[in-house]
Amino acid sequence: MDVIQTINEVKSLVKKARSDGKTIGFVPTMGALHEGHLSLIRAANEKCDFVVVSIFVNPTQFGPSEDLDKYPRPIEKDIELCEKNNVDLVFNPAVEQMYKQQNLTWVNVEKITECLCGSSRPNHFRGVTTVCAKLFNIVKPDFAFFGQKDAQQAVVIKRMVCDLNMDLEIVVCPIVRAADGLALSSRNAYLTPEQRKDAALLYKSLQNCRQLIEKGEKNSQTITDQIRTTLSESPLIKVEYISIVDFHSLEDIGRVSAGTLIAVAIRIANTRLIDNILVD
Ligand code: AMP
Repeated sequence: MDVIQTINEVKSLVKKARSDGKTIGFVPTMGALHEGHLSLIRAANEKCDFVVVSIFVNPTQFGPSEDLDKYPRPIEKDIELCEKNNVDLVFNPAVEQMYKQQNLTWVNVEKITECLCGSSRPNHFRGVTTVCAKLFNIVKPDFAFFGQKDAQQAVVIKRMVCDLNMDLEIVVCPIVRAADGLALSSRNAYLTPEQRKDAALLYKSLQNCRQLIEKGEKNSQTITDQIRTTLSESPLIKVEYISIVDFHSLEDIGRVSAGTLIAVAIRIANTRLIDNILVD
């Protein structure tokens, strides 16, 4: 496995793999790898011959009061996990490598970045789409793997790839959860034991909501109210949003049906957690 910091070296190693007839799979991450990331790496290995993982805490997707500085960066452990999971190339650039000069060119997907997480994180998706466009240009993958955990991100990236006629396919993989249902996230490490216990209510609220829908409830307001009631079992939880939207347009809908995304964001102290379910 190669661990590479420079763009030119990545380009030439990927070019070599491609000239050997290999298909290229790409998993972009910010590191602090967990089973959620590893599930994407496994999916990439199943579908592709040569797997590239990027580990880059992208500053342009963090707001000024967000956790850029304290974001975990256990690079040695991450490299070990990549090695164990048959990654061919880890791209671990410094910020100066990815942003060599003041960045004047941005990729901005409109409308679907303004709702849900975009309401409280202005410019977040602009940072995500810009860095993904840069990474896609560097790695030139056939397939890139994203998690359903960040549902809005997956929708936005798919839209960017489609609108800009990028030559790759986006594969979205299921959410990997802890034993109590909490979606795995690098940010779970910020939680104290007491906060971690209450964080499980996020998944519980979505499970209750799924049961309600299975019983025949379709009204978005009723479902939202029930999620809010479950979350109110913990005084530590502050609800940021509960959104019931169409999975592609991300527009609010009044009645759920197949293809509806139910997405929730909460804060426990300074830690922001998101989760979602897709109605099938
Ligand atoms: P991050 O390192 O947080 O930027 O995440 C990198 C990729 O891993 C993104 O596509 C995420 O959606 C995905 N991911 C993060 N957590 C999970 C999870 N629990 N299950 C599945 N995919 C995940």
